[in-house]
Amino acid sequence: MATSDAEVDVVIVGGGFAGVIAARELSARGRSAVLVEARDRLGGRTYTLDHDGHAMELGGTWVHPLQPHVWSEVDRYGVETETFPVLEGLRQAVVSDGRVVDLSDDDVARAYDAFDQFNAPAATLFPEPFLETLGPDPQGLGKRSLREHLETLQVAPELRDWVEGMCSLIAFGPLDQSGATEVFRTYALAGYSTAQDMAALSATKLVKGTRELIHCIAGQATLADIRLNSPVRRVIQTDEGVRVELESGEAVSARTALIALPMNVLNSVEFEPGLSEIKRTASADRHAGAGMKCYVRVKGDIGNVSIVAPESQAVNYVVTYDHGPEGSWLMVFAAIPKKLQMTKFEDVQGMQQALQPLLPGVEVESIVGWDWSNDPLALGTWCIYRPGQLAKVLPDLRTTEGRLFFAGADSASTWRGFIDGAIESGYRSARDIDDYLTAGGTSANS
Ligand SMILES: Cc1cc2nc3c(=O)[nH]c(=O)nc-3n(C[C@H](O)[C@H](O)[C@H](O)COP(=O)(O)OP(=O)(O)OC[C@H]3O[C@@H](n4cnc5c(N)ncnc54)[C@H](O)[C@@H]3O)c2cc1C
Repeated sequence: MATSDAEVDVVIVGGGFAGVIAARELSARGRSAVLVEARDRLGGRTYTLDHDGHAMELGGTWVHPLQPHVWSEVDRYGVETETFPVLEGLRQAVVSDGRVVDLSDDDVARAYDAFDQFNAPAATLFPEPFLETLGPDPQGLGKRSLREHLETLQVAPELRDWVEGMCSLIAFGPLDQSGATEVFRTYALAGYSTAQDMAALSATKLVKGTRELIHCIAGQATLADIRLNSPVRRVIQTDEGVRVELESGEAVSARTALIALPMNVLNSVEFEPGLSEIKRTASADRHAGAGMKCYVRVKGDIGNVSIVAPESQAVNYVVTYDHGPEGSWLMVFAAIPKKLQMTKFEDVQGMQQALQPLLPGVEVESIVGWDWSNDPLALGTWCIYRPGQLAKVLPDLRTTEGRLFFAGADSASTWRGFIDGAIESGYRSARDIDDYLTAGGTSANS
């Protein structure tokens, strides 16, 4: 096996937002780091692809001032933002009872009221959502799936279908496998308001893509040696330090390690000694987020549309990305990809069929996307806990084990599952590692 590097303070495993923020924050504290990332790029589950003249986000896209950690980074680097979807002339609709029902502004207001009604438990379950304390739960709502909770909602059918479609979009996995708490939590974080929730989840994106932001952050990780194409195979912890072995046979030694991997892939790295049972079980069970997001090129000018559909449909949300007489690009979300009858993105027929209930007559030309659930470095989309998983896995998922620290959007306190949560966790872990090294470990720079 190749020799190790000179010892550094921290080896960071994973170059998503959590790992890269930690690298910058550690640099600011005078701590040296080696960041090892398996892919040939930074960003992990955010991925800006240049295609057909657009900076398309194949993963994480939307950010918002209600998400304090990511917004402070946007402000810090002066990264340009824009409203998306464009609201001017936006046609809103829901698929209900097999037909497309157009929604007037009043209808949208009624749909928002229905979503408020759905989220009524948020006030008692998440009285202080930024503090991660769960309120009293005499009815056991914390263990309820989104499907079970939807069955208690009594509103007009098209409003119910709109709420169901929104739940499918937020969960991005099967409703019976997704915890209702996950939807309550974002609603609470957005000030217990549907309008604010919708804005926080899907109203503002970065003009040049998340790629620009992560490169700004990485540019200030001055004491970090960032190594791409460096998949980690094994992490060995001893009394003296941590040795991280790569698939290539190389190794990096450091006083501590920050594991900034998705929860679903934790088990694909070998840890000696093994990780806590809760971490291993969480990784084996996976979170429920397993949907398919892609960009679909269609013939003609589709106009500016935003159409929601319930779980029975293969596509649960479609929104115009760009349109004109030469053709349109749609952003398409499917919470249960196997319903799409597509085995690969070239299968335009499967997508064309799946889109008919939302956009009758639409003709698909091409598809661009990334299959996150079958990507071995992600094994899922954004983190949505299964019913009851929240209470079982947090806070253990981010609990330090000896010299190993843990970060990632999947175990964040507040906007868990979001870019904001990844950044929050990166700030926290850098501070914790610095405190640990100050208290007992010896800094490589001291
Ligand atoms: C389709 C999709 C849409 C989304 N939309 C939004 C949105 O609109 N807004 C929002 O805020 N969030 C969104 N998210 C969620 C957000 O992108 C993620 O929660 C966040 O980016 C995760 O950051 P992270 O650093 O915790 O993990 P990751 O980004 O997953 O980073 C982990 C890194 O570890 C690397 N890695 C894995 N295994 C190894 C190994 N063995 N060795 C070395 N490296 C390894 C991975 O390649 C990856 O780079 C979306 C996610 C997806 C997939």
